[in-house]
Amino acid sequence: MGEPFPEIKSTHSLVAKHVTKDVWAKLSGLVTSTSGFTLAKAIACAVEFDNQHCGIYAGDWDSYKVFADVFDPIIQEYHGISPDATHTSDMDVSKIQGNIDPTAPVHSTRIRVGRSIDGFGLSPGITKDQRVGVENLMKKAFANLSGDLAGTYYPLTGMDEKVRQQLVDDHFLFMSGDPNLKVAGMERDWPEGRGIFHNKDKTFLTWVNEEDQLRIISMQNGGDVRGVFDRLARGIQAVGESVKKESGKDFMLDAKYGFIHSCPTNLGTGMRASVHVDLPGYTKEGVKVLQARCETLHLQPRGTRGESGGQTGVTYDISNKHRLGYSEVQLVQKMIDGVNTLVKEDRELQKKHGL
Ligand code: ADP
Ligand code: MG
Repeated sequence: MGEPFPEIKSTHSLVAKHVTKDVWAKLSGLVTSTSGFTLAKAIACAVEFDNQHCGIYAGDWDSYKVFADVFDPIIQEYHGISPDATHTSDMDVSKIQGNIDPTAPVHSTRIRVGRSIDGFGLSPGITKDQRVGVENLMKKAFANLSGDLAGTYYPLTGMDEKVRQQLVDDHFLFMSGDPNLKVAGMERDWPEGRGIFHNKDKTFLTWVNEEDQLRIISMQNGGDVRGVFDRLARGIQAVGESVKKESGKDFMLDAKYGFIHSCPTNLGTGMRASVHVDLPGYTKEGVKVLQARCETLHLQPRGTRGESGGQTGVTYDISNKHRLGYSEVQLVQKMIDGVNTLVKEDRELQKKHGL
């Protein structure tokens, strides 16, 4: 039988709203077949922390189906989609209009997507064997990449500490210790099965077994978002084809929810297109003002050391806010246009503040 109804500390979270006593009674005794995931495991962050907005993760693709009574309304509310909405992917770079203003103070551009390989669990639920299975498959798959995408896979296990820290400091590598990832079960058996692939120039990279099985990344200095998107589109296709060739498996792709990710907030494109840009005018105005302006532009500001790493100086990570309900092309366009707007406004704010 099911477990007793938990005390959900994040009282304002989507989990608190949608995990009712009735739903709990119906679902708390169920266990998914791919990774043995439960509703209790899925909502661990909402139960444990008092600061969650969403508060739920999936442990495998089955989770979205077995616990659909919880996931469906949360996904619809978070992404603002209707119950019968479907997702369409579009990575045709020729549809992008314009680019970041070449005079904008942009340090670097990065676009990432998450991808999951069918048949393996997602990070919160993935078994030890499945995690190693993903890594072994990816070692073979990476070896097939050619041209500017060719590179080397570096497992975290046995990596020299200085090399690891440098990769983190240079914004290439993830790090452990994010409280959400920990409580959600994503740091079990750390660092086994995790690693990073990158080409020689570190412009095409893939994280293995962090928050998602795969995070495929294209990045470079400067503000050429079109160029970064073009490389990403080619890279995703090459990795997908290589995985298929080595294993016969596809990426998990759902008609309604697009590419499957462990966090329902990433469903759809799973794409975050960001620039690191200096905004000294907005810094004077305060981060609240910047956040509000980003909201109206459908953008999200972060610190430059990643979601959990914090803010330094006048440089911000500005990215598209949405993942689902828009195509990749539309989201990249929003980011380009929005960043150009912010940079223009920031020049006015600098004058206002006598900078
Ligand atoms: P993700 O959404 O991929 O999980 P995080 O916010 O956790 O991203 O950041 C991961 C890493 O990527 C961090 O080191 C961050 O500084 C780096 N990063 C993000 N955007 C950019 C960018 N435009 N240029 C350089 N590094 C970036
Ligand atoms: Mg992250």
